[in-house]
Amino acid sequence: MKIKTRFAPSPTGHLHVGNIRTALHNWMFAQKNGGAFLLRLDDTDAERSKEEYVDAIRADLAWLGINPDSEERQSARFDRYQARFEELKAAGRVYPAYETAQELDLKRKIQLGRGKPPIYDRGALNLTADQIAAFEAEGRTSHWRFKLDHETPIEWTDLVRGDQHFDAALLSDPVIRREDGSWLYMLPSTIDDIDMAITHVVRGEDHVANTAVQIQMFQAFGADIPQFAHEALLVGTEGKLSKRLGSLGVSGFRERHIEPQAIVALLARIGTSDPVEPIADVAKLIETFDFGRFGRAPARFDDAELAQLNQKIVHLLDYDDVKDRLPEAMPAEAWEVIRPNLHDMSEVSQWWQVVTGPIAKLEFSAEDQEFIGQARNAMEEMEASEGIWKKLTEALKESSGRKGKPLFMPLRQALTGLDHGPDMGLCCR
Ligand code: GLU
Repeated sequence: MKIKTRFAPSPTGHLHVGNIRTALHNWMFAQKNGGAFLLRLDDTDAERSKEEYVDAIRADLAWLGINPDSEERQSARFDRYQARFEELKAAGRVYPAYETAQELDLKRKIQLGRGKPPIYDRGALNLTADQIAAFEAEGRTSHWRFKLDHETPIEWTDLVRGDQHFDAALLSDPVIRREDGSWLYMLPSTIDDIDMAITHVVRGEDHVANTAVQIQMFQAFGADIPQFAHEALLVGTEGKLSKRLGSLGVSGFRERHIEPQAIVALLARIGTSDPVEPIADVAKLIETFDFGRFGRAPARFDDAELAQLNQKIVHLLDYDDVKDRLPEAMPAEAWEVIRPNLHDMSEVSQWWQVVTGPIAKLEFSAEDQEFIGQARNAMEEMEASEGIWKKLTEALKESSGRKGKPLFMPLRQALTGLDHGPDMGLCCR
């Protein structure tokens, strides 16, 4: 059986860091197992789904290196949903209901007032033909519910959460279709998972209760039930699902000059028992990917950790990885000298500016000025060669009696206009 996973965003907004993590794990799991990864656009909501978000989702995934093997769109499959809906209707597994939102709300309040769980009472199943005719005459149209099987317990072994049990009688029959005929998420998703031969559904633990219902939908169609992995949610450092995390996406990372490899390395490991490490080669992260290592506690996303990881990742990047993003004519040697000083890639051009000039003119004391004059004269007599920095500083040490900082700092300042930077020995060749 070929492993197949899917990432199923609704294109009603940009991907946020939580979605990106889900996409990444689906892709990594498929990669690890020689399987396939599907991008499924859950665009049944015609009003809220936008082409600009579809494009942005594709572009964000591509930037992160998460490449789908195929793509499907729910909006192209309405005929298929209708056909399968008719099957459920014929089998008595869906039924029309006429309550208004206010009526349902009132029912819930009464149940809660009596100390009972607010489970839908299946009132619609007891309607007589006359009552239904009266509703229709009034202009009411029905929405549709899926009829759960109360006799069969719902069980699965979750790859992250272990054994799961639900009593169907304690769940409401879910609304699957609205009065206007439009689809809610639950049924089309199950139909797609069956038709697209999804073997593993990997998503956030906010979907656990949906899974209980969807397992009965798979059974109603006589289909194989995929395996499920429900991951603990992502939280900010303050330990809560923050608004900020919900709006943090690829454009925010790019603005902060975060490399895709840093996001991937972080999101691959937080919330697992493996340490977060600066690993730029995703194949190495894929090797260790295992749902058995995922914890039940929320995964903490820390901006400071990401920035640090990003710095370490930048220090691992080869010239070939970055050459398209370097200033024109900057050679590999210059990249290697500058690289250890970078916090992020935005600083490359500042260092290249130091090499290509002009640089800031600093104020020097009279003594330092004289010393720098000596250095200039000494340098003019030397041939530019590999060991010139060592030769120069040794000669100056001898002639001036200076050593340590008073020897090196004025030279660095005069040559770069800065008091910190790359190893001068590597720079001067
Ligand atoms: N469109 C759904 C969501 O974004 C998909 C959930 C799923 O993975 O089944 O929540």
